[in-house]
Amino acid sequence: MSNDVLILAESNNDRLTIVSSELCQIGRKLADEKGGSLIGLLLGGAGTKELAKGIIALGADKVLAAEADILAGYNNAAYTQVVSGAVAETGPAIFLLGCTSIGRDVAPRVAFRLGASYANDCTELSLEEGVLAAVRPVYGGNALSHVRSKPGLIAMASIRMKAFPPADIEEGRSGELVEVAFSVESGELKMKFVETRQVEAEGVRLEDAEYVVSGGRGLGGPENFEQLNKLAKVLKAAVGASRAAVDAGWVPTHMQVGQTGKIVSPMLYIAVGISGAMQHMVGAGPSKNIVAINTDPDAPIFQRARYGIVGDYKKVVPALTEKLQKLLEN
Ligand SMILES: Cc1cc2nc3c(=O)[nH]c(=O)nc-3n(C[C@H](O)[C@H](O)[C@H](O)COP(=O)(O)OP(=O)(O)OC[C@H]3O[C@@H](n4cnc5c(N)ncnc54)[C@H](O)[C@@H]3O)c2cc1C
Repeated sequence: MSNDVLILAESNNDRLTIVSSELCQIGRKLADEKGGSLIGLLLGGAGTKELAKGIIALGADKVLAAEADILAGYNNAAYTQVVSGAVAETGPAIFLLGCTSIGRDVAPRVAFRLGASYANDCTELSLEEGVLAAVRPVYGGNALSHVRSKPGLIAMASIRMKAFPPADIEEGRSGELVEVAFSVESGELKMKFVETRQVEAEGVRLEDAEYVVSGGRGLGGPENFEQLNKLAKVLKAAVGASRAAVDAGWVPTHMQVGQTGKIVSPMLYIAVGISGAMQHMVGAGPSKNIVAINTDPDAPIFQRARYGIVGDYKKVVPALTEKLQKLLEN
């Protein structure tokens, strides 16, 4: 096993995703501390080799590119095969992925095949006596689990999005680009990728938003999300929801924040009529500042909120919207 650190970069709409940059930043740091190289791995369809060069500008010494039509859309069997092969071939000390839909799906499969240790959804990574140590929020962010990789095994970890800063871009940085040799025949796969459907959502994406306004069952009905839309417009915020609001059919599934929804980490998260159940806080917990508006002073959300307003959102939200509009105009 080498001292190298390998990262699995991802792309979307012909661009490297933000988590790829975050992986490069922490990967570079760990590689320098271990005295190894940072190696990037990118899988995809046509154009992947060109895109992979961007990982060098983010700090990688070497990039492995696997380009083929069969990798154009995510297919877990094909990805598992190619990623496992690349990790086995490279023999890194540490292999990092994003805690994304792809990372969460492919990482345990690769870890099992290679007998690697694996920590999911890490918010801190460091070396302790040369071994990868990770911090993982558990129980909806109410506790932190400290884990260490077993010496002698490839240490795999997936990182929580936005928990690590992105890497600086260094244009003109030199590095090696290597094509990954692999053979995956579509006939060998038990499933096939059919199509990607882009959710048509207006405004800021929840995952990227600096400000999020979320509504829960306490809103009482779908029409009342209009009040949140007005507040969100003033703040240039994305609008999210609790699962209760989604399950009631008030808003679409892609707006759900939480364990079975999206994980967000905005600067400001305004939770309106949301009780703060553990499963919701898994998604909202990484927010830097939480403001809760709730009629029940004992609602658990107040334990996690920096600012709490005990009151009926029907009075609070319009007043807050008006005040913020005036403040932001000046
Ligand atoms: C396996 C599993 C996965 C789950 N995944 C998720 C997930 O991803 N995301 C998620 O959100 N939940 C998830 N849940 C559900 C979760 O446990 C809660 O049931 C849900 O989050 C509750 O949503 P809520 O806070 O909107 O509703 P409630 O818990 O009913 O809270 C409504 C709140 O609104 C307040 N309220 C009422 N009227 C007003 C008013 N006029 N003004 C202001 N406040 C008012 C009430 O005091 C109350 O606190 C999951 C559950 C399970 C079992």
